[in-house]
Amino acid sequence: MDAMTDTRVETHAETGGYALSVDVEDYFQVWAFSDVIRKQSWDGFAPRVGDATRACLDLFEARGATATFFTLGWVAQRDPALIREIVARGHELGSHGADHTKVNEQTPGEFARDVSQTKKLLEDIAGVEVRGYRAAGFSIDHTTPWAHEILQREGYAYSSSTHPISHDHYGDASAPQSPYQPIKDERFIEAPVATVEFLGRRISCAGGGWFRAAPVEVSKMMLRHAGKTLQGPVIFYFHPWEIDSGQPRIKRASVKSKLRHYLNLKTMPHKLDIVLKTFPWGRVDQALGIRGATS
Ligand SMILES: [Zn+2]
Repeated sequence: MDAMTDTRVETHAETGGYALSVDVEDYFQVWAFSDVIRKQSWDGFAPRVGDATRACLDLFEARGATATFFTLGWVAQRDPALIREIVARGHELGSHGADHTKVNEQTPGEFARDVSQTKKLLEDIAGVEVRGYRAAGFSIDHTTPWAHEILQREGYAYSSSTHPISHDHYGDASAPQSPYQPIKDERFIEAPVATVEFLGRRISCAGGGWFRAAPVEVSKMMLRHAGKTLQGPVIFYFHPWEIDSGQPRIKRASVKSKLRHYLNLKTMPHKLDIVLKTFPWGRVDQALGIRGATS
């Protein structure tokens, strides 16, 4: 056993399983469009994230699933009723940062301000404690060794901000696949999104573009395999805009970005529903056995 696996989180009967997460951001705020849509212009777009997130809430309710909604401060400021509805319907509220700036594009000081202000904003609106954080674009990596320490200091109990694969925008194929303790305070957990090993290669089965691209039966097989091989919860994620096929098209974006963003949006709700009814999905905090996690 190497040093990385030594720090794996001890799981007990109630932890592990399948954890569902939603990154609450609007279709025009995604990283793939950030070269053609400046943050300063976001207020000029008609928001769709409220309706799309409520559609997620309805899908989950129909299947008895609970989830963690990692939400942008920007969205919470403009739609506080949505934040309260997420909590009222039994889900965990987490932070996705203020305005989708990647961690590895911030200084430690900027990051501390971002995560502390967003936590307070979400808590003031929702009236519940925010314990979890997900970095925009899974941007906690080897270039941000200070990030987990700062999150712990600002009162977070866990982060789900790493995607341990090779990818052109993010990821580190040598990072741990299962939840681990990244800092001295062993109560703080980093919980990577789901991956499996196949023929000596790591493949993501965490959701997002991969899920929309693959046949649902393949996704189910991989998620089942991840449930047997990961030491801790299988963490799946997607975005509300992925079930919103009526979203306006961003014509100026690159062909590659458009291919990725618009791929199979129409079939996504149905695929998602199949996965929702196949696995027993719950909140990330509860799946990790975070102290004080309530439903
Ligand atoms: Zn995001």
